[in-house]
Amino acid sequence: MKRQRIVIKVGSSSLTDSKGYIDEEKIKDHVKAISYLKKMGHEVIFISSGAVASGFVQLGYPSMPVTLKGRQAAAAVGQSLLMQQYIKHFCLKDTVPAQILLTRNDFVKRDRYRNAYFTINELLERGIVPIINENDSVSVQELTFGDNDMLSALVSGLIHAEQLIILTDINGIYDGNPKSNPNAKRFDFLGEITDELAATISSSGSKVGTGGMKSKILAAKTALSLGVKVFIGDGEGEEKLSDILLGKGDGTYIGEPDLTSINNLKQWIAFHSPISGRIMIDHGAESALRSQGKSLLPAGVVEVIGHFPRGAVVEVSGAGGIIGKGQTVYSSEELLKMRGKKTFEIEEIGTAGKPEVIHRNYWVNLIDGEVK
Ligand code: GLU
Repeated sequence: MKRQRIVIKVGSSSLTDSKGYIDEEKIKDHVKAISYLKKMGHEVIFISSGAVASGFVQLGYPSMPVTLKGRQAAAAVGQSLLMQQYIKHFCLKDTVPAQILLTRNDFVKRDRYRNAYFTINELLERGIVPIINENDSVSVQELTFGDNDMLSALVSGLIHAEQLIILTDINGIYDGNPKSNPNAKRFDFLGEITDELAATISSSGSKVGTGGMKSKILAAKTALSLGVKVFIGDGEGEEKLSDILLGKGDGTYIGEPDLTSINNLKQWIAFHSPISGRIMIDHGAESALRSQGKSLLPAGVVEVIGHFPRGAVVEVSGAGGIIGKGQTVYSSEELLKMRGKKTFEIEEIGTAGKPEVIHRNYWVNLIDGEVK
C-alpha cells in the first residue's frame, strides 16, 4: 500500500472511564494500532481529546466542570497525565511522541499557521508521532475550535493528509439514532455530505466529549472540502487502523477517492483569516472570478466597505451576496480611487503597480459559505 499521511482523532470517551480516570487499556490499544500503521510505513498524527475528562477528579470536582476556569484547570492537569501515558506506551513501541497544543489563534495568524505546518511536517519526517490537542487551558471561549472533531479536520487539511479517521463509540453514521431506533440504517459509504443529510443526522453520542455525531458530520464536511477523505467509526485491536485503510473498517467511509487538496494559502484565506472589509463587484467581474478563473481588476469594483490596509483579506460580494474571499493587493483608500477604472487609468494614479485588486492565486470561491 502507498505511504499515506493519516490523522486519527480519538474522543474523550475512548480514552477515559466514566469516573474521570484515564483508561490505560484504551490508551494501549490506540498506541498499538498507531504503531502498527507506522510500521506499515504511514505517517500518523494523533488528535487526542481527554484532557478535561481525565483531569477533573484530581481537582476535586465530582463531575466534568462546566465553568471555563474549571475546564481550563482540569485540562492543565489532564493533559500532562495523558502525555505521561502516551510517552510510556509509545516508548514501549520504540516510538517517540510529541505534544502540540493549538489554539484557534494559531490558525488565525498566518505566520503561526505556517509555523504549525512546518513543525508538524518536521516531526513526521523524523518519524515522530505528533499528539495534538486544543490548548484548552488558555483558549478563550469565543475563539476555540469548538471541538476536537473540527480541530482534526483543520489539521488534516493543513498537513494535506490523505485520510482522517475519527474513532468514536458508535460504528458509523446512521439515518436515525441507533440508540433509540433499532431500524436505523448505517451508511457504509457517503460520497459527500449534503445539507439534507447533515440536517437529518441526529446528535447522538456519549456525554463525555463535547462532540456528538453532528460535530463529526460538520468536521467531515470541512475535511472533504479540504480534500481529505474521512472515516467515522469504531474499532479495537492492533489492526483496527490498518483495517480501516484496507476498507474493512466498522463504520462509514466518506468522500470520493479523487478529492482535490487545497493549498495552504487558500485554506488560510477560506477558513482562518480575519475579514477586514468587503468589496462589491459588478456582473462582469463576478463571472470572471467565479467561472473564468480570472483575477479581480479595478474596473469591476463598484463599492468598498471598511478600512483595510494592503494585504488584508476581504469578502467579495456580487449581485446575490458573498461569492468568495481574497487577499487584496491594495488598501481600501487606494481602491476607492481605483474602482471602476481601466488599467491604463490606474497607472496615472500611481499605486502598487499591479493590475489586479485580488490575484487569482489569492482568491477562493465560496458558495453558501463553502469552498468551491
Ligand atoms: N480538548 C478537549 C479535551 O481534551 C476535548 C474537546 C472535545 O471533546 O472535542 O478535553
